[in-house]
Amino acid sequence: MKMELSKHNIISKIKDSEDYFIVNPLSRNADILDPETAEAILSGTSANIDELAGKGYLVDPAEEEKRFRAEYLDFLDSREDDEIQIFYAPTYACNFNCPYCYQEGYDKEKMQQDEAVIKAFFNYVETEFAGKRKYITVFGGEPLLPDTITRKKIGLIIDEANRLGLSLAFVTNGYSLVSYIPMLKGGSIREVQITLDGPAEIHNSRRPLQGGGETFDEIVAGIDAALEAGLAVNLRAVIDKENLPSLPELARIAVERGWTSNPLFKTQLGRNYELHYCQENAVRLYDRLSMYEALYSLIKEHPVVTEFHRPAFSISRFLFDNGEMPDPLFDSCPGCKTEWAFDYSGRIFSCTATVGKPGESLGTFYPQKTLVQDAVEAWQDRDVTTIPECKTCNLRLACGGGCASAAKNKSGEINSPDCRPVDGLMSLGLSLYFGNAEESTAE
Ligand code: SF4
Ligand code: SF4
Repeated sequence: MKMELSKHNIISKIKDSEDYFIVNPLSRNADILDPETAEAILSGTSANIDELAGKGYLVDPAEEEKRFRAEYLDFLDSREDDEIQIFYAPTYACNFNCPYCYQEGYDKEKMQQDEAVIKAFFNYVETEFAGKRKYITVFGGEPLLPDTITRKKIGLIIDEANRLGLSLAFVTNGYSLVSYIPMLKGGSIREVQITLDGPAEIHNSRRPLQGGGETFDEIVAGIDAALEAGLAVNLRAVIDKENLPSLPELARIAVERGWTSNPLFKTQLGRNYELHYCQENAVRLYDRLSMYEALYSLIKEHPVVTEFHRPAFSISRFLFDNGEMPDPLFDSCPGCKTEWAFDYSGRIFSCTATVGKPGESLGTFYPQKTLVQDAVEAWQDRDVTTIPECKTCNLRLACGGGCASAAKNKSGEINSPDCRPVDGLMSLGLSLYFGNAEESTAE
């Protein structure tokens, strides 16, 4: 039997260390290697053949291919049972942009149209996703605008979700959240995602009301009130070079207000890449790896940041928290598989990246049901077994092929790669999590 190094080995140096790591997402093994051992593996001169073979770092290629196929079939099977996240955008308007303009456009007739669309949406969900586990995420624009017509719409959405026994999540800027809490408590609310981009001064400069009004205090009050009411809060900070340095201060605010010790509170960091249309702002944007490099340095200097948010650094955090590898990632894009997006105009899209974008609609649920099957299949077929570049990439089962929409924006094709620097991320994350663990054990 001819043994070779596995095509799925990821070997790289650990940041700020002499050591290396070897990770194999197919055999689900991971080890830290001293430089000599790493060199021996890479040059094929290692004497530990049995150990390397036992961990799937050294393989019979035909056997490995069989294992890959079997794992892929398991992955497809288990995805059948996955819960589906269905987004609904009742508006694209936002009071952080143009509230008067938005409210002017609404009249009684518009509300009747909205009611018919919302009911059609829930009927569509009931029939087309029958038998599937699912929940609805309401987003926009800003879904929780303070006017009466919007409140009626949200009330109807909650009633319809209750009728079908579905839970709801809301993605909101948080500005009017306090006044919505009694209404939200009438539904089964899974979480409220709120964006806060830093401490008051930074946040207010980045996310003001149109006309310059500040928003930080209202949002903080909304987070306090939501937690107090027993609603789960997912706090999102959208990060670029301008606000990353203020993350330790935001973390301290979250600690001091008792958010981080509340089990209903969690966080996520988004990378700001939407401003790339604007040349002036482009200098403040990070690419994916450089943002995590900056975050790594920031956490080293200000460990309080990890009380607020523990970045995944690819599989690093999972490995540290669970003591084992995650399942191989054959696909990192849920669009048209376990994620769909619908909007108030009656159109259907793959996900939040494409919703509302001209040319991206995949069908309609109102006034009649239509679906462009070819386009949907192109989304559904995309994974690391179909994207040509991914088929031979050693990172594929940790990367999953990235985001289909980002890939299409770059190449014009859905079935193209959106590469994730998973080896670089692991280099940082393994150093951060396992480096700290060793230090704390030694103390
Ligand atoms: S296209 Fe991108 S944003 Fe949309 S579901 Fe896929 S990974 Fe997510
Ligand atoms: S998207 Fe790029 S990095 Fe990811 S598996 Fe495909 S080729 Fe590899």
